Amino acid sequence: MPFQDGIFTSAITSTLGEPAVMMVNFRARGRVVGTMHLGMISQMITNGQIRCRIDPSKVRTGAVADYSHEDKTIYGTKAEGFYAEDKAMFVHECTHAMFHVLGFARAVTMKVLDDEIAAYLAGAIYVAANGVTPRYADARAPDATAFTIASRKRIAVNRTNTTQTNASSPIDFSDAELRPLIAAIQASRFYRNWNNTEVYRWP
Ligand SMILES: [Zn+2]
Repeated sequence: MPFQDGIFTSAITSTLGEPAVMMVNFRARGRVVGTMHLGMISQMITNGQIRCRIDPSKVRTGAVADYSHEDKTIYGTKAEGFYAEDKAMFVHECTHAMFHVLGFARAVTMKVLDDEIAAYLAGAIYVAANGVTPRYADARAPDATAFTIASRKRIAVNRTNTTQTNASSPIDFSDAELRPLIAAIQASRFYRNWNNTEVYRWP
């Protein structure tokens, strides 16, 4: 494995091992994304069943990373200098990979819109749980909108051992809460296909 790919791979698996990822456990649009799902993806990356590669030609312009269902690969643009917002995109892409893997027993049929909602919420919960104040380039973009929605849930990793918002049962996001995120995804140039229905089968 080329050196850069190795760094990128370990950046993603170490992100998935962070305490903030333990808080990613939620239900939205009838789908659950749980910590164990992301743990499984981490394992599959370690096993080489899902690959992580640096190849900017495979990433849409302006994106940090992209998951390819065809290649079972998370493609990235750089192998260093990752901030919480970048690592949120790892969590985002791993959520896409998760829905793909869930198609192992029988095909997963879902709208691109719902896939993106789940992926943005997963990334946003990770950032919110980290307690950092992220700086998003566009306040109306899906990542910023998802963060605003997730922040209202008062998600925090237990650092002081005094109070903790527990994510042991999934955090519920209602369609009403998700409305601004839905609008942001529909308005984004990345998701002109938001209304498409995808069928995921693994492998
Ligand atoms: Zn996505």
